[in-house]
Amino acid sequence: MATCTASSIADALRSAAQVITEHRDELVRLDREIGDGDHGENMKRGFTAMVSKLDSTELATPGAVLKLAASTLISTVGGAAGPLYGTAFLRAAAAVGDAAELDAALVAKALQAALEGVVARGKAVVGDKTMVDALTPAVAAAESVAEAGGDVASVLSAAAEAADQGAESTVPLVARKGRASYLGERSAGHLDPGARSTALLLRTFAGSAR
Ligand code: ADP
Ligand code: MG
Ligand code: MG
Repeated sequence: MATCTASSIADALRSAAQVITEHRDELVRLDREIGDGDHGENMKRGFTAMVSKLDSTELATPGAVLKLAASTLISTVGGAAGPLYGTAFLRAAAAVGDAAELDAALVAKALQAALEGVVARGKAVVGDKTMVDALTPAVAAAESVAEAGGDVASVLSAAAEAADQGAESTVPLVARKGRASYLGERSAGHLDPGARSTALLLRTFAGSAR
């Protein structure tokens, strides 16, 4: 795909809702190991609500779609992840402004803004065993592919690949942020649920852009 439009982003979010629903139990299981077991249900509730809103609203720009996603996630996901993902989508919306279409450079810029939002809100750094461990390498990969002249699909597939590896990298880590940090050393040996959901989302967006 050469560029992303409001309708292609809405379709990517519908696919994301489906993927999150399919992985609901996996995310619950991961969060049960080092948290309170609600991440899968929280995300499923948020993305399901988002699809209902997308289905009943005609939105003209990518920024408007991202803003609707943000406000729905903020009001429906709850927990730590709701405000973090909400901020991510809100910053992405602000970064694309009222552009009618997003090219590869703007997609990379939106991902960078999303990461900045998550970090501003949650104050986590790489190695704290959070979604930041998936999103940070994803943004770096997206930027380097965009700078090299890659298209939207290759930017997103590089981001998805890096996010998968970043999520896997959380397994041996001791959590320093969020609920898992209450476990101290016992949080090691488990995949962070938020890093996993971030990787799932980016994989879905990459698939949608192909
Ligand atoms: P809660 O922990 O409130 O139940 P969720 O289970 O929905 O919320 O989300 C947990 C996920 O949120 C974690 O796996 C982690 O990736 C992410 N998270 C928690 N705190 C932070 C933070 N300060 N910065 C970034 N991500 C965080
Ligand atoms: Mg939880
Ligand atoms: Mg909770």
